[in-house]
Amino acid sequence: MVVLQQAVKAMSGLKEGVDLSVVIPLYNEALTLATLHERLIRTLRSLGSSYEILYVDDGSTDGTAGLLRQLQGQHQEAKVIFLNRNYGQHAAVLAGFERARGEVIVTLDGDLQNPPEEIPKLLQKIREGYDVVGGWREERKDSLLRRLLSAQMSRITSLIVGVKMRDYGCMLRAYRRPVVEQISKSQEAALFIPALANYLARSVAEISVGHEMRESGKSRYNAFRLLRLNFDLLTGFSLLPIQAVSFSGILIAFFGLAFAAFLALRRILIGPEVEGVFTLFAILFFFVGIQILALGLIGEYIARIYMQVRRRPRYVIKEVLG
Ligand code: UDP
Ligand code: MG
Repeated sequence: MVVLQQAVKAMSGLKEGVDLSVVIPLYNEALTLATLHERLIRTLRSLGSSYEILYVDDGSTDGTAGLLRQLQGQHQEAKVIFLNRNYGQHAAVLAGFERARGEVIVTLDGDLQNPPEEIPKLLQKIREGYDVVGGWREERKDSLLRRLLSAQMSRITSLIVGVKMRDYGCMLRAYRRPVVEQISKSQEAALFIPALANYLARSVAEISVGHEMRESGKSRYNAFRLLRLNFDLLTGFSLLPIQAVSFSGILIAFFGLAFAAFLALRRILIGPEVEGVFTLFAILFFFVGIQILALGLIGEYIARIYMQVRRRPRYVIKEVLG
């Protein structure tokens, strides 16, 4: 009887949807998972509205998958999506988005760097009528280098997307359902969810949220992965980089011409110069560097076209629980 009641409840829930979905990507977060879940449900229960939690296991190799199974068995409101391997944070969030039933969808990191206790603040702002509410890590607990680069990247992203935000890297965010549906529908190969959401949303707000140290393990992003993510962002959202390269090409060619004219004049007036030979080398190296960068950029765009043409799925779901 109880089982039947539960089944009926689950089915009606499926039809009606819920007020809030929380999507959390996890890649080897076994050490924080239990605390995260406990803090999360404490916060969500205090809201007094219906909710679901979607954990997306992004091909973890520690004990995350096993722990998620256990947790799901005990808590009906938790659902788990297992990806068949590691696809990256944004692809994992997307997998959660496509299954989320909430009117509002909140994302946060699974390493407890984003305190779940901040969720009510985001929802408060959503209720004011915004489509997307981003968190801004005012006192961010990451290395200085990372903070500086990230701030710079947020500035560039603001320019590209056309929506100014201090912190594009913060994944503690809330979205209204239509925005999430649009994101799910878009067939972009380049995935940087905050940028895409701001691009699609009518109104966007940003509020300051807390940030904590990573208690266990290191960031799942190394320098290379971060670079790749930012490349995704730059070339995926605008033609600006390639246009900047073309523009600088024109400028440099112009300078080269002026320099040649100067050398010719000098040869006539003073005689040929030999001492400056190494200066010329230096200048040459600079130009060669820019050329290689330009080639790389062109390659990047072509690679993206290739990815799009192949139409490979952005992730593959292995199993869904709950
Ligand atoms: N993550 C993921 N797949 C990845 C890398 C990260 O699902 O390939 C998750 C990770 O488990 C965490 C969140 O994305 O919940 C943010 O990752 P991390 O804390 O390593 O990034 P940082 O805080 O350094 O930006
Ligand atoms: Mg983190």
